[in-house]
Amino acid sequence: MSLAHGRPYLAIPGPSAMPDRVLRAMHRAAPNIYEGEIVEMTGQILADLRRVALSSGHVAIYISNGHGTWEAAIANLFSRGDTALVLATGRFGIGWAEHARAMGVEVEVMDFGLKAPADPGRLEAALRADTGRKIKAVLVTHVDTATSIRNDIAAMRAAIDAAGHPALLAVDCVASIGCDEFRFDDWGVDVMVGASQKGLMVPPGLGFVWVSDKAVAACRGSDLATPYWNWNPRIFAEAYYLHFAGTAPTHHLFGLRESLSMILDEEGLENVWARHRALAGAVWAAFDAWGQGGDLGLNVADPAFRGSSVTAARIGGGGAERLRAWAEEKAGVTLGIGLGMAEPGSAAAGDFLRVAHMGHVNAHMTLGTLAVMEAGLKALGIPHGEGGLGAAAAAIARAAV
Ligand SMILES: *Cc1c(COP(=O)(O)O)cnc(C)c1O
Repeated sequence: MSLAHGRPYLAIPGPSAMPDRVLRAMHRAAPNIYEGEIVEMTGQILADLRRVALSSGHVAIYISNGHGTWEAAIANLFSRGDTALVLATGRFGIGWAEHARAMGVEVEVMDFGLKAPADPGRLEAALRADTGRKIKAVLVTHVDTATSIRNDIAAMRAAIDAAGHPALLAVDCVASIGCDEFRFDDWGVDVMVGASQKGLMVPPGLGFVWVSDKAVAACRGSDLATPYWNWNPRIFAEAYYLHFAGTAPTHHLFGLRESLSMILDEEGLENVWARHRALAGAVWAAFDAWGQGGDLGLNVADPAFRGSSVTAARIGGGGAERLRAWAEEKAGVTLGIGLGMAEPGSAAAGDFLRVAHMGHVNAHMTLGTLAVMEAGLKALGIPHGEGGLGAAAAAIARAAV
């Protein structure tokens, strides 16, 4: 028998659960795109996008997904033949590097593997060794969604400064903006990319690139920037349509207006971070208990380097793939696939999954997901330690004071 009939829940790391309020705000007639409400609203959205990143710089909006913002950042940061240093801690860092290389950038990848965060000491040493100052920018993922490793961005800036190197610091925050603490100004970030469909709780379709004054100046004239991807006309738009290089993404903007109000003005950004941290803590507690009695566990050992929005885990013997199938078919919960953790088709390919806790997610959704997972472990006969749900509930009880 299946118990999946009811509201399905997508617990994958994007698209995230969206508030009905956001969807309702989008359900309306097309507005005039030349004057009036949408023009005023866009100005407020740009201001609020800076607030959500704690940035006093600029922001460009693109009609794209996260991959589009990778190319937007690359196109503006580099000229053909410039050098990028990419700090990779999972599939998403590797992906950004591949895009840069395909666009004509010389890319050096410093790969930290799938379990450890980027090491600021190695970054500093690489920059010191770059005596010709060829490296134009350092690219790093804040939370790599594949491994759920969270990198210490302030430490990356400190390493660049300690080396006395002029490289710009560019950060992929697609999986962390609106979930994990991020401080664009305080952490000395020059470029940051994000997208609508994760912590910002809006359907896929909008990409964002935040840019410091320093980066605007340092990147003027980069020869990879085509008219569509060039951030200058969008940031310094002389007419409304130039913000979008054409027709505005009208309905996404209505949705985003609603979600930014929910995050910034209703719940509050620090509370949003704390909620994600607490939900992550429940997931970690469950896995710690389950792992006591079976071949399963979290990908990242040190909690200080785990993202708050997604948790990557391993269940041996193909257990992850079987559990994902069970949870969807029997209980209406879709868990995330493992990404870049094992060769497709290899023996270990079915051993990895991800639990997302990003966006419009509260305690009952995450506890429900964990309960479904424990039910699945039992139904499938996958050995695991007892007490996972109790530990998760205790973590929520501690956090919700
Ligand atoms: C989801 C994600 C992307 C890619 O975003 P798409 O919208 O799927 O193109 C890039 N980087 C990170 C860290 C992500 O989580």
